[in-house]
Amino acid sequence: MADDLADWGEMTKREVTRAFRTLAEVMPGNVPGAKGPKEAIDPFRGCVSCMLSAQSRDENTARATKALFRLARKPHTMLRLEDAVIVNAIKPAGLYNNKTRSIKKFCRALIENFNGVVPRTREELMSLPGIGRKCADIVLQFVFDQNTIAVDTHVHRICNRAGIARGATPDQTAMALEARAPDWALAEGHFWLIQFAKRVCVSRNPRCETCPLQKLCRHYHVHGQPKSGRLH
Ligand code: SF4
Repeated sequence: MADDLADWGEMTKREVTRAFRTLAEVMPGNVPGAKGPKEAIDPFRGCVSCMLSAQSRDENTARATKALFRLARKPHTMLRLEDAVIVNAIKPAGLYNNKTRSIKKFCRALIENFNGVVPRTREELMSLPGIGRKCADIVLQFVFDQNTIAVDTHVHRICNRAGIARGATPDQTAMALEARAPDWALAEGHFWLIQFAKRVCVSRNPRCETCPLQKLCRHYHVHGQPKSGRLH
């Protein structure tokens, strides 16, 4: 992917600022329906919900999280559950054997290293098994209300297409975006980008003709409208 990206380049930082200014004007910010993990009502639940969300639709993640948290709500009680019980509860989210192992490893490390309390920094969160950059940023933003732009597959796609920030993976894009997005955009940037990805720069047949970022978009400038697929 990185080679593909090289040929349409990226916006200048000034253009990135203009792009965010435009998105702030035309896209909704932190409104109901734009939020991330629906069941993330406490830090522990937020982390587990994010782990369950890998390759799972939102509604299935919510069902699995709800079923699991009916059985245990804290790391030490979660560890007491038999694997088969966890597997059964989280089945709707898929990859249940791996996810069960990850949840237990996460609970063990959380108890051993943080006394069972979910830490509040990205570095500490990412030191926990099963918590990557995306989950850490989602927990920081949605649970601890910190200003950071969490990068999921939608945000990754549009950042790379438009040339706002480039990276071969969502984690790399998140790092690039952190260095390029203006500070004032961090609080609501995630919401603007998600709404833009769902309403305009959709995966297949993006609406380039009416896109408010068309003049800035690197892909459109070099190749025109992306034909299909995730990036081009
Ligand atoms: S011009 Fe097209 S590809 Fe570029 S950001 Fe807009 S919708 Fe996406």
